[in-house]
Amino acid sequence: METDKLREECGVFGVYSSDPEINVVPLVYYGLFSLQHRGQESAGIAVARDGTIEARKGMGLVGDVFDPATLAQLSGPIAIGHVRYSTAGSSTIENAQPFVSRFKLGSIAVAHNGNLTNADVVRELLEDAGVGFVSSSDSEVIINLIAKNYKKGLEKALTDTIQFIKGSYALVVLTEKALVGARDPHGIRPLCLGKIEKGWILASESCAIDAVGGEFVRDIEPGEIVIIDEHGVLSFRYGEKTARAVCAFEFIYFARPDSRIDGIDVYQSRIRAGEILGRESAVVADLVIGVPDSGIPAAIGYGRATGTPFGLGIVKSKYVGRTFIAPRQDERERAVSVKLNVIKSEVAGKRVVIIDDSIVRGTTSRRLVSLLRRAGAKEVHFRVCSPPVRFPCYFGIDTPHRKELIGSANNIKAICEAIGADSLAFLSTEGLLEALNHQGGYCLGCFTGEYPLPTPGEVGLAKQNDL
Ligand code: SF4
Repeated sequence: METDKLREECGVFGVYSSDPEINVVPLVYYGLFSLQHRGQESAGIAVARDGTIEARKGMGLVGDVFDPATLAQLSGPIAIGHVRYSTAGSSTIENAQPFVSRFKLGSIAVAHNGNLTNADVVRELLEDAGVGFVSSSDSEVIINLIAKNYKKGLEKALTDTIQFIKGSYALVVLTEKALVGARDPHGIRPLCLGKIEKGWILASESCAIDAVGGEFVRDIEPGEIVIIDEHGVLSFRYGEKTARAVCAFEFIYFARPDSRIDGIDVYQSRIRAGEILGRESAVVADLVIGVPDSGIPAAIGYGRATGTPFGLGIVKSKYVGRTFIAPRQDERERAVSVKLNVIKSEVAGKRVVIIDDSIVRGTTSRRLVSLLRRAGAKEVHFRVCSPPVRFPCYFGIDTPHRKELIGSANNIKAICEAIGADSLAFLSTEGLLEALNHQGGYCLGCFTGEYPLPTPGEVGLAKQNDL
């Protein structure tokens, strides 16, 4: 349960084996386990074998949905999988992915991470053309567009579809004979390519390639489509060349620290963010601690840069999963203590710097400050290794309504007072870019309000937050 964080929408994974006797479903299962942090509401696997596509999906964690009996029903040399946390489309089994479509020319399955900003318009056009929908998911829009264009051939159907849809997407598509991957023209959501013996992997994050014993090959480029079949990996680009704008929050919080995205090591970027934070806003203190998990590398970096001793200070319960009932607003602060607790012997009598990856609503920060004071901390200085979140995300990340974002209506002094800290500082936007090596471009929309492409509101398609 994360009540006070932005939440990732989905993780995708796909495997192609050139040996028809190899069953890749167990690999997809393990790959999805390593992407579980990207979505915990539903999980699914679709597999191609002998000219048909079979899928199983359900609500819950990968381990809940796929017991040995369910896994045994799926077998084949090409498969895709998906874990989901819903933002666009509600949390129901109809919206679980992958989506499978069977039509005259064959079958395809699609799994998608991201958010289409023109899904409503495309859906309306398809409905006018007689296409029926069973879900509110963007992926069903994509699969119906591909199916509509399929008679032109796979390559053309994909490029036509992708040129039509707008927004953020990392897609894996399964046909009866091929595995396909595509990344939106700005590369907002990550997707990478890996190699296994006699085959290939596509994954949202490189940690999932490692988990199945594969070898990371490269990131799929923004605006690139790869078709993997008996001929190998065919790569081509579509549309006009656009500027890369990878989601900066992948590095700050969403991605696992053992992943690399677009050439940046996520763990090292978090260490650097902490070092820069230390340079920008050091305070005299006896101890620096990080809020698990992503605040910890930043606290190590802050400690290195300022000479402040690093300690653990906060423990996170590993067992608070999705079965934990989402608390009401007034219960949220208390609920933080179920998930996070302070090691009193480490913080008592000390001037403590506490580092978190972000402040969204502020409820977790307020509670942590109060827990530290109750544990005997003499001073509590809050540091955040990202700029204030002030604006919503339109590209697949669940953001609270703007009025609930503490950084939206309050200045730093007011936020500091609200969370009860002795001092508060955020990483600057320049500092964040420096932590990301200034390499390529990044989406910083939720910090700056400047987005890499028109938002639904701007094109008259208000769909997400009623701001
Ligand atoms: S608006 Fe924020 S969360 Fe959304 S894609 Fe951009 S950086 Fe990521």
